[in-house]
Amino acid sequence: MAKRDYYEVLGVEKSAPLDEIKKAYRKLAIKYHPDKNPGDKNAEEKFKEATEAYEILADPKKRQSYDQFGFAGIEGMAGGAADFSSVFQDFEDIFGDFSGFFGSFFGGGRQRTGRKSSVRRGSDLRYDLEIAFEDAVFGTKVELSFMRNESCTACKGSGAAKGSSKKLCPDCRGSGQVRRSSGFFSIATTCNTCRGEGEIIERPCTECHGSGLVKRNKKIKVTIPPGIIDGKRINIPGQGDGGANGGPVGDLYVYIHVKPHKYFERDGDDIYCMIPVSITQAALGGDIVVRTLDNKTVKVKIPAGTQNGKVLRLRGEGIPHLHNPNSRGDLYIKLKVLIPVKLSGQAKNLLKEFSRINGELENPQPIPLSEIKEGY
Ligand SMILES: [Zn+2]
Ligand SMILES: [Zn+2]
Repeated sequence: MAKRDYYEVLGVEKSAPLDEIKKAYRKLAIKYHPDKNPGDKNAEEKFKEATEAYEILADPKKRQSYDQFGFAGIEGMAGGAADFSSVFQDFEDIFGDFSGFFGSFFGGGRQRTGRKSSVRRGSDLRYDLEIAFEDAVFGTKVELSFMRNESCTACKGSGAAKGSSKKLCPDCRGSGQVRRSSGFFSIATTCNTCRGEGEIIERPCTECHGSGLVKRNKKIKVTIPPGIIDGKRINIPGQGDGGANGGPVGDLYVYIHVKPHKYFERDGDDIYCMIPVSITQAALGGDIVVRTLDNKTVKVKIPAGTQNGKVLRLRGEGIPHLHNPNSRGDLYIKLKVLIPVKLSGQAKNLLKEFSRINGELENPQPIPLSEIKEGY
């Protein structure tokens, strides 16, 4: 892409005095500043372009050379930097102590109009709660105990000691900011005397040291609904930190961490477990008794000729659905056929007899992949 003429970039006449160039650049810099346009590539380009133009046109020598020879005259002089960080460095160089202006303009700078101390909402708090697998499945009630900021009762949250009050900050006259002029910038910085509050406390409350907030232990009961999943967040409005100067209370976010179970695994509303069966049970079939997650015993039929890895489904013995506890998932039982390892002499003889009758696979062929359902 061809480079645009620097005067065109800044939108000024070729004869524009330095004042006007500064003004034009300042306007563009504010408009396209990356802090104000996060992630906007176009704005970043515009910001770079304007910065480069300003770099040249604000310097009388560079400007003269540019006027005379165009871009060729300033080769190597302008940033023209490919990466943004170096342009930003240039930018800092150009503005030097004007960074305060940008800091308060874009960064957490608070625009103050009122004269009153700022009312601020309290912070949201995070509570990480570990619960048992069964409690996640069937729901539970848990008491949480945590520290949070609460409005100071001694000063009713004002931060001022009894008999004293807040008065307008004499240094900033309540605006919370002090301005000073430097060059073409007027810089606003946070007032040091009142730390930007606009008011100062004559005598701070001894309980809260003027903050209006005190740390207190809070206990609340939380209901964990049945079927909740690991990583889920429960929002409890109004149980976070108290707000400054009577501001609203923040929220409490409870993050649920479900402890793994020794026997059961979860997938959505279904649960899985593995149950061993003997080779004779697998071959001949029979009934086994299985304990479900509810601690209920269920009789399960093992069909004759059951292969290792066979999965049986117990309908409705899974997890209650989070928003509809009456509907439950299923319990899947994977059967593991145990090959006996310690055999008595009699058992060995019986198996030898079985082998003689049943025959052995002396020249086995591989099993076709299409018949392998459970994987290897
Ligand atoms: Zn207090
Ligand atoms: Zn002040």
